[in-house]
Amino acid sequence: MQRPLVLFDLDNTLVDRRGALDDWAAEFASRHGLEDEGRAYVLGVLAERAYPATFDVIRTRYGLPMSTAELWRVYCTDIAALVSCPAEVLDGLVELRAAGWRVGVATNGAVDIQRAKLRATGIAERVDGVFVSEEAGARKPQTRHFAMAAARCGTVLGDGGWMVGDNPVNDIGGGRSVGLHTIWIGDDRSWPPDHPGPDHTVPRARAAIDLLLLHAADRTRTTT
Ligand SMILES: [Mg+2]
Repeated sequence: MQRPLVLFDLDNTLVDRRGALDDWAAEFASRHGLEDEGRAYVLGVLAERAYPATFDVIRTRYGLPMSTAELWRVYCTDIAALVSCPAEVLDGLVELRAAGWRVGVATNGAVDIQRAKLRATGIAERVDGVFVSEEAGARKPQTRHFAMAAARCGTVLGDGGWMVGDNPVNDIGGGRSVGLHTIWIGDDRSWPPDHPGPDHTVPRARAAIDLLLLHAADRTRTTT
């Protein structure tokens, strides 16, 4: 039997990026003597998109003395140290692979920071493949992003699979448009009414993993 594919989003799906970024922005503001407005601004722009260019903007706005490259390097190191993946989720990735799943990560972002987080949390060594959008300029919800992620896991989208993520447009809309089943990490939010809904909604990643393990067990029972 073909090993089924599941792709996970990284930020705010497998790791709590929001919490890490809050803590980091407070520390960054105090380190550079920024007021509360500065902390909120830095948090706002980085929450949206964290690339070296983002630090170019921050550096200019607050007249920071260090180079953009230096700011970016420190950011990557700090954030990698701050994010964590819950032990039950790390275990779940191992359980999925043991149950025959191909497990991948499909994430938008800059290669340096996303790879640093994947290594520091231990996710990298527990999955079959990873695709970071910057590697090929293919962001979710583009089809090419999902195709690249499937390829990194040694399969193709035509064989179907699942997408798990917190973003209604990038993860769920994108996953659905390439024919994947979808699980939305709702975290107590309500689904935006003008988007077609996910196949399943769960509060956190571990619940998505349990659902997939159950699904695989059912499938085995009905095909044997
Ligand atoms: Mg996300």
